[in-house]
Amino acid sequence: MNEQSRSPEFDVVVVGAGVAGLYLLHRLREMGVTAVAFESGDDVGGTWYWNRYPGARCDVQSIDYSYSWDTELDEQWEWSERYATQPEILRYLGFVADKHDLRRDIRFSTRVDGAVWNDATSLWEIATDDGATTTCRYYVMATGCLSVMKDADIAGVGTFDGEVYYTGRWPHEEVDFTGKRVGVIGTGSSAIQSIPIIASQADELTIFQRTPNFSIPAYNGPVRPADAARINADRAAYREEARWSSSGVPREVAELSALEVTEEVRQERYERAWQEGTIFSLMGAFNDILTNADANDTAAEFVRNKIRSIVDDPVTAEALCPKTYPLGTKRLCLDSGYYATFNQPHVRLVDLRENPIQSITGAGIDVVTADGATSYEFDAIVFATGFDAMTGAIVSVDITGRDGVQLRDRWADGPHTYLGVMSVGFPNLFMVTGPQSPSVLSNMALSIEQHVDWICDTIEHLRTDGKAVIEPTPVAEAGWVRHSNDFADLTLFPQANSWYMGANVPGKPRVVLPYLGGVDRYRKTCDQVVERGYLGFEVSGEEGTEVNDGVIIQLQPDVGIMIEFMEELALPPMDSMSPVEARAFSEAMAAESPAGPDVGQVLDGTLPGADGNDLDFRLYRPAEQGPHPIVIYFHGGGWVIGNATSDDALCRDLCVRSGAVIVSVDYRHAPEARFPAAPDDGFAAVRWIADHVDDFGGVPGQLAVAGWSAGANIAAVVTQRARDEGGPEISGQLLLTPVTDCDFTRPSYTENGDGYILTTALMTWFWDHYADVADRDDPRASPLRAESLAGLPPAMIVTCEFDPLRDEGEAYAAALADAGVDVRHRRARGQIHTSVPAVNALLSGVSVRGEMADALRGFFPAGVPA
Ligand code: FAD
Ligand code: NAP
Repeated sequence: MNEQSRSPEFDVVVVGAGVAGLYLLHRLREMGVTAVAFESGDDVGGTWYWNRYPGARCDVQSIDYSYSWDTELDEQWEWSERYATQPEILRYLGFVADKHDLRRDIRFSTRVDGAVWNDATSLWEIATDDGATTTCRYYVMATGCLSVMKDADIAGVGTFDGEVYYTGRWPHEEVDFTGKRVGVIGTGSSAIQSIPIIASQADELTIFQRTPNFSIPAYNGPVRPADAARINADRAAYREEARWSSSGVPREVAELSALEVTEEVRQERYERAWQEGTIFSLMGAFNDILTNADANDTAAEFVRNKIRSIVDDPVTAEALCPKTYPLGTKRLCLDSGYYATFNQPHVRLVDLRENPIQSITGAGIDVVTADGATSYEFDAIVFATGFDAMTGAIVSVDITGRDGVQLRDRWADGPHTYLGVMSVGFPNLFMVTGPQSPSVLSNMALSIEQHVDWICDTIEHLRTDGKAVIEPTPVAEAGWVRHSNDFADLTLFPQANSWYMGANVPGKPRVVLPYLGGVDRYRKTCDQVVERGYLGFEVSGEEGTEVNDGVIIQLQPDVGIMIEFMEELALPPMDSMSPVEARAFSEAMAAESPAGPDVGQVLDGTLPGADGNDLDFRLYRPAEQGPHPIVIYFHGGGWVIGNATSDDALCRDLCVRSGAVIVSVDYRHAPEARFPAAPDDGFAAVRWIADHVDDFGGVPGQLAVAGWSAGANIAAVVTQRARDEGGPEISGQLLLTPVTDCDFTRPSYTENGDGYILTTALMTWFWDHYADVADRDDPRASPLRAESLAGLPPAMIVTCEFDPLRDEGEAYAAALADAGVDVRHRRARGQIHTSVPAVNALLSGVSVRGEMADALRGFFPAGVPA
C-alpha cells in the first residue's frame, strides 16, 4: 500500500455547525462519505447560537433566509414574522438538525486549533483543543464570516467593575437592564437592533458612536400578503429565481440611473423603497447607486432627511447622519424604532468623532472633551463592536499547507483564493462563503447552499474520477483575485472604512473581501469552471496529475457584461450588411449610448478636404479660458462608417480631461471614396487647421493628432506625411487601438478574431471596401510599412488585450521606439476594441482615458491650463 492510499479516519472533516455545517453534513451523508463536524459551541446554530442579544433577528426576510434544499421544511415550518428573531431561527436550525439526525455527527464544545497537510499521505491532520488529532481527506471550513469577534481595541478594556456584555457572545440566560445605567459602544447592525430594547428597560442609556450607519425601518410584522402570494404561487420557481438574482433574493432589476430621472420620480422611488423595508430595496432603486457617487448621494441624502425628520434634537439628528462614506458601502442596517429611541429623555448619544474615548475605567467610560475629560458611569457596558470578518475564523486556526506554509502568512497582504473556495498551497481545503465570494453581500442562506453544493459535487467528482487531491493553480487564483478586485474598483465600496474592506480591525490589510459581481454571475462562473473541466485546478490521484490551467474571467467585468448583453440582443453582424445599412445601424447604436461630459463650447463647421470637397468638423472647447492647444481627432469606423460627431462622447471626455480643443474632422468614406481619399482628407484638414490656429482658439505650434481604430490609422499616416511633406509641425500622436498594418496573421487576430465585437470578418469587410489588395502595402494604408519611422513626434499608443488589432498596434509602438521616437504604450488589460471609448457606459476604461489625456498634456511643452 503506498502512502497516498492510506485511509483517513473520515473522508471529510467539517468545522462549524451553523447554517453551512448542517447542510454540509446532510449532503455528505447522502453521498455516502464519512464525515464529522467540530463545533466550539455546545449546540448547533452558529451565528444564531452566539448572537443572543436583545432584538437580534435576521435582516433578510425569513422566507428567503431559510434552507431550500429540504422542500418539506416549507410545509413543516412557518415563520411567525417577516424577520424572525434569533430564538426562532435557532429553533429552526435545531429542528432541521433533529429532523435529519445531524447532531450525531457533530462533536460539540470542540475547537479546531490546527490543521496540517501531509503531502506523503495526501491527508489533513486536524488538531482539536481536546488534544486529539483526526485525519481526513477533505477539510471544509464552515466557520462563518462573522463568527470571530474583533478585539475591543479600547484603552482600559477589562478594568470595568460592572457587567460587561458582547453582542456576539451574549449569555444564554436572560439579561435584564431594568433600573440600570447602560453604555453601548458601537452603532452597527447589532447595536441598532439592540438599542431600542435596552432603552425600554434601562434607567439611562448612553450610546457611544464612532461612525453613524444608514438604517432603514424593517416594518416587521406578519409576512406581507403580496410576498406570501408570490412565493406560495410556485415555491420552486421562486427559489430558482433567487439563485439567479444578484443578491440571492428575487427582485426587479433597476434599469434607470438615479441621475436620469426628475427629483420627483427619484423621491417617489426612494420612498417606495423605504416603505418596502428590506436592505436591498434602496440600493436597488436605481442601477448606479453603488457605482456613481452622485447617484449614491441622492439616496444617502434621502435617508439623512428621514433621520432629520425622526430625531427631534437637531444636533443629535445631524450626528446620526452618515456623511463620510457612500450608502450601502457599509452593510445597511434594518431597524425597529432605532432613530426614534433618541427622542427618549433617558437616551443620549456621545459622538466619538467629537469626543473620543479616552479609557474605560472601573466606573464607566471617560471621553476626551475640549476642557479635559467627561466621565460616564455605568452599571453595564455592552460592546457591539463587531467582528474580524470573513478571514478571522479561517486564519485563527493554525493551518499549515504544502511545504510548511501557514495560511495566515500566505494571506498576510489579504486573502488569495480561487472562487473564494480554495487557496493555492492548501490542497483539499475548502471554505464555505470564503473571501472573494459573494457571501456577506447576499442572502447568505442561499450562498451557503451554492457553496456546499459546489464543494460536495467536487468531492463527488474526484471520487468517481478516482482522484484524491485538488488544488487551484497559481494562475487561476491570481486571475480570480484580480477579477474580484476589478469588480470592486468599479464600485464605491473601496471608499468606506468598513469591515467589507477589513478596515475595522487595526493592522488588517485593506482589501475588498466579498465578491461584488453578484450571486447570479458568481454561480454561473462556478458552473463554468466545472463545465470547462475544472478550469484552473490541478487534480491528482494514483494515476498521476492533470493540470487544467487557465483564468476563468479575463475581461474587465463591465466589458464582459456588455458583451453578454450584445450577445443576448443577437444583432446581425455588420459584415452581413451593405455599407449604407451598416452606417444606419451604427448611428442607431450610437443614439442609444450615454452622452459624454459637458464642455465649454461645441461648434460645428466645415473645412476644405483634399479634393475640393467639404469636410464636416465638430469642435469641443474646454470651459477654461483659452487659447488652448489643438488636437485634431479622426473617428473610428473602418474607413466606412462614422462621421465628425460619431465619437462625440470620447471627444468630450478627452477635451475635459486634457484641457485641449478637440477638433473632430470627418473624411471621405469607402467604398464611395476608396484609398487614399481618407488619409488625403485627413492631411488636408491638418494643414488647414494649422493655418487657421487662431480662428480655432488654438496656441500656435501646439497641434497634435489623435484617432481611434481606422481614425488612428489616419492620424498615424498624417503624422508621417507632415514629417515628409514639409509640415505642419505636429507635437504628438495619440493612437487608440490603431490599424497600422494589413497583415491578419498576427496572434491577436487568431486569439481575438471572434467574440469581441470587432471580428476578423468585420476587419476583412472594412479592408475590402477600403483598399485594393495591391494598395494595402502602401504606408498611407499600413503606416507600419513606412520606410522609416525616425523623426516622428512623440506617441501614445493604447492597445487592448482582447482586440484583433492589438499586435499591430504594439508592433507600431515597438517600431517607433526602435526608430528613436518617444513612445508611451499602454496595453489595456481586459479591454476590447470598442470598450475604451465607451464613455459613461463602461467604467473600467476611465483610467485608460485618463492616461490618454495625460499623454495629450505631455505633448504640449508649455503646458495646458489644468
Ligand atoms: P456561522 O453561523 O458563523 O457558524 C460557524 C460556526 O463555526 C460557529 O458556530 C463557530 O462556533 C464555529 N467555529 C468557528 N471556528 C471554529 C473552530 N476553529 N473550531 C470549531 N468551531 C468553530 N446573513 C444573512 O444573509 N441574513 C441575515 O439576516 C443575517 N443576519 C445576521 C445577524 C447577525 C447578528 C450576524 C452576526 C450575522 C448575520 N448574518 C446574516 C450572517 C450569518 O453569519 C450567516 O447568515 C450565516 O448564519 C452563517 O452561517 P455559517 O454556518 O456559515 O457560519
Ligand atoms: P459592525 O457593523 O462592525 O459595527 C461595529 C460598531 O462598533 C461600529 O459602529 C464601529 O464603529 C464600532 N466600534 C468598533 N470598534 C470601536 C472602538 N474601538 N471604539 C468605538 N467604536 C467602535 O458590527 P455588528 O454591528 O456586529 O455587525 C456586523 C455584521 O453582522 C453586520 O454588518 C451584518 O452583516 C451582521 N449583522 C446582521 C444583523 C441583522 O440585522 N440581521 C444584526 C447584527 C449583525 P466604526 O464603524 O467607526 O468602526
